Amino acid sequence: MKLICAVLGLGALSAASWAQIEYSLAPDPSAGSIRVSASAVATSEITDFRIPAWCPGFYFLLDYPAKLFDAKATSGDGATLPIERPNRHTWRVRTRPGSKVTFSYRVLGDDAGLGFFGVSVKSHTAFVNGPAAFVYIEGRKEESALLRVQLPDEWDVATGMDEAGVDKFAAASYDEFIDHPMQLGRFEKRKFVVGKYKFEVAIASEDQTYRTSPDAIADELMQLSRPAIAMFGEAPFKRYVYLIHLARGGFQGGLEHRASTLMALPNVPNLKFETLAAHEYFHTWNVKQIRPKVLGPFDYTQAVRTNNLWFAEGVTDYYAQLHVYQAGAQGPTWLLSQLSNEIQTLQRSKTRLTKTLEQAGWETWENGGFGIGDLSYYNKGLVVGLILDAAVRGATEGKHSLDDVLRTLMKRHALPQPGYGEDDLRTTINEIAGRDLSALYDRCVRSTQELPYEELRKIGLRLAIPGRIQAHLPFELLGDVVRSADAGSGFQPGDKVLAVNQRPFAPGAFSGLTMGDKVQVDVQRSSENLRVEVAVGSSTPSAYRLANDPFASAEQVRRRDEWLRIPSDLPAASRPGGGDRSAPGESLLRRLNNGVGFGVR
Ligand SMILES: [Zn+2]
Repeated sequence: MKLICAVLGLGALSAASWAQIEYSLAPDPSAGSIRVSASAVATSEITDFRIPAWCPGFYFLLDYPAKLFDAKATSGDGATLPIERPNRHTWRVRTRPGSKVTFSYRVLGDDAGLGFFGVSVKSHTAFVNGPAAFVYIEGRKEESALLRVQLPDEWDVATGMDEAGVDKFAAASYDEFIDHPMQLGRFEKRKFVVGKYKFEVAIASEDQTYRTSPDAIADELMQLSRPAIAMFGEAPFKRYVYLIHLARGGFQGGLEHRASTLMALPNVPNLKFETLAAHEYFHTWNVKQIRPKVLGPFDYTQAVRTNNLWFAEGVTDYYAQLHVYQAGAQGPTWLLSQLSNEIQTLQRSKTRLTKTLEQAGWETWENGGFGIGDLSYYNKGLVVGLILDAAVRGATEGKHSLDDVLRTLMKRHALPQPGYGEDDLRTTINEIAGRDLSALYDRCVRSTQELPYEELRKIGLRLAIPGRIQAHLPFELLGDVVRSADAGSGFQPGDKVLAVNQRPFAPGAFSGLTMGDKVQVDVQRSSENLRVEVAVGSSTPSAYRLANDPFASAEQVRRRDEWLRIPSDLPAASRPGGGDRSAPGESLLRRLNNGVGFGVR
């Protein structure tokens, strides 16, 4: 059992006094289910208790009523009340307005693994996903909720929900209440602090072994939690909880919540979860706060559609890549390689030629929840996020970026403000860009044309496209040093470039050159100075590959450097017993010092 301090105990009194819907939850490991009750004072003759038809974050209808059984309704004096079933998701109870009504039931805890979209009850753990477990009262979702939890001995609890006393939790509305999944049982717990925010990590394992150390997982999550706070300046939570299931269930992946995430991962050594964790965490801003109007407040009775799932998921995935890099977990070579792979995946999709990015989100409810056929709004949305970022940076000469679009949307649409309208993304991008990028936006999002990859040149990147001849320099530079050179080119890795066409070397030195142009390059090799004459050649790529544009202008190189800049204001982070971290991750510094970077100086 947890020890709750006296201050929180007082909080319980005030929370209880304003709570309008009271819930109880008791896991029953021997029965493999949970017992739940919902009580309220009836405000009309009919009280409809409803279970959602879907779970926010997964755009697919789920059959929650199938798991709910042993339903009973009682009046304030304990008398049994009859239940009607006007539809599959509703339990209707008639009672006198002003009298108390309690609806109690069990939910089967048979969700695969340690639970994900539903409820799981094992001998040593229980996982409760809110929409699967808790009914709401029709017409009263805005009322506050108080939850009492009864736990078996020696069971712990981890949740992002506010504590309101010993084993009591409170939420301001049903939307908030069910957006705090609960991990109960015996599991590993770690804590850390980033800036002024508290974090917890709860790691449950099916067999109570941990093949990647919980300390290593917590240390990595601590680093990954820093860039988004630096980007927005603050976080929309007081406390954030990473829930991790080490189990092979029916679904491996993550689900975002407003102050937590659940990630289901295999129990293996050297667990790789960095982009998944960064993705789910970034959702705390993008989709939990910055969201289409239909994604909060929610209609739980049916599929809710928006054209903008690509922004909620794909742009989140774009920032997941950037933030893994900014956190120091990976270097710039990795970043370009990840983005190249995403472009390759998109260009293999056949559906991209028949369905738009908006349609991939709108029609996803009938298509499995991730897109349509082989067109994923995660994947194309990520690539479009990169292109829009480049376009905004280009349009504003590097003064603004997609970060500013997100920050502006956060100011305007963070809860409790309404979400954004269907056309607000385009409007906001145009506003931040200071010019009309509607044609570009529409091509990316509302057409089936190929994406305008040439936009990436604005941030000094060039996409190699299979079969398309491109100008080629026989060497690649990292700063002013030759990183690799074609055989027979006269250059060697490690050569330091001193001058190009007899002008001192500077970023943008090869800008404007085209195939067939001759160029003189002065290099220093050991203690020798050499002049090498080369012609700009051509190459025909065999795969999509995003790389530094060797012919970028000084301005484009500057924008690329800015795009790749590690924020200097990452918040300080520390973990009790785990040491303080306030500088960029050591691994990144090591990589840069070893010169295994790509265009970062
Ligand atoms: Zn997501």
